[in-house]
Amino acid sequence: MLELLDHLGSKTDETIKTLDELVRIPTQVPPGENYEKAMGYAASILKELDFGVETLIMPRGLFEKKNPRLAHLHGERVNISATKDIGADKTLLINTHLDVVPASANWSVPPFECTKKDGRIFGRGVADSKGGVAALFTVLSAMDELNIITKYNLNIALTTDEEMGPYSGLCYLADLGKLKADYFLSMDGDSDDITIASNGNVDWQIDIFGKSYHSGSSFLGVNAIEKAVPVMNGLLELKAKVEKGRSKVPASMAISRNAGIDTLMPVLNITVINGGVKQNIVPDRCTLKGDRRYIPEEKFEDVCREMKGTVEQVKQKYPDIDLKMTCDEIYAPMLTDASHPWVKEVKMVADEVAGRDVRCAGAQGSLDVAYAVKVTGLPACCFGIGRRMESNAHADDENIRVDDLVMYTKFLGKLICR
Ligand SMILES: [Zn+2]
Repeated sequence: MLELLDHLGSKTDETIKTLDELVRIPTQVPPGENYEKAMGYAASILKELDFGVETLIMPRGLFEKKNPRLAHLHGERVNISATKDIGADKTLLINTHLDVVPASANWSVPPFECTKKDGRIFGRGVADSKGGVAALFTVLSAMDELNIITKYNLNIALTTDEEMGPYSGLCYLADLGKLKADYFLSMDGDSDDITIASNGNVDWQIDIFGKSYHSGSSFLGVNAIEKAVPVMNGLLELKAKVEKGRSKVPASMAISRNAGIDTLMPVLNITVINGGVKQNIVPDRCTLKGDRRYIPEEKFEDVCREMKGTVEQVKQKYPDIDLKMTCDEIYAPMLTDASHPWVKEVKMVADEVAGRDVRCAGAQGSLDVAYAVKVTGLPACCFGIGRRMESNAHADDENIRVDDLVMYTKFLGKLICR
């Protein structure tokens, strides 16, 4: 182990070089056109290290059926599953995604290459989440060079479309049965906390129907936008009630520090409103959309029943409102027991390499990892390199500290080394 950690200490430049090569393959989605190239690069490294590598392309029909809003995206949806069976008792699944969000014109450095500055590495995807992949490749090659055997059989799933979803490459691999393992480490996270839970997500939509007419005689039409007002008021009353709820799972460090919220909480949002064509036409349709994030203690069915019940009450009060409502489950919530031996193991190693008490916490957002956990039932921990409040994931000048990259290679080394 000491030999490995020593050896890793001399490999930081190699990790940065690998990361640079990954960042230079522009896998931003939309559109996600270069997945083949990125996965080809990763596959060549893993094959060199004696992994059996399978390339799994999500069929176009399935991609469009499961992601109807993404049908316009071009390019093959490529993922890889790389396995190495060393005859160990347990298998560890390691996953993250190689797609990234696009970069704006406001970056101070070129986004699609790595720039080293002030002890940091800048580049799109360095934190979310190509840095983890570079660190993993360094650890595996260091172990190979030193002839060190891993503690687990490894199943490495590198996937795409996490940044778009809902049905990402990871979901596809879960449904194909390619995530067979005993433990699950997702590198798609930050180093602030070990994420063991996440909120579920329901997308809801309400279409309110009216009758269009010349606005000069609007009393002869039915104004769908005006009819939407009591519906929104009903939803806001429900929001106040919903958001009093609290989970038992601690919230992330960033949320508790910045919002003073100590445990995961459910939220209900109205986020889209569409209606009307022109000032002098009575609108015949108004569409409201939003989401409802629900805590691991809640169930999808109950969340939908509650929302539909609220809308039903509005209709009883205003019987002339004509509407249709849908609720779709996007991601289920996730919860791994903090006392599970796998969580304890990850925490012990993270505490050691980070030199602090790394808390186990939940994410307010929803993860494709939750889908994989729902299908496989695996105990899962998400732990990555970036820092929530300074790495600018999904923003300009995304960066990681070089020290954190080094910390993360040590973390992976200690975790998988026998
Ligand atoms: Zn990510």
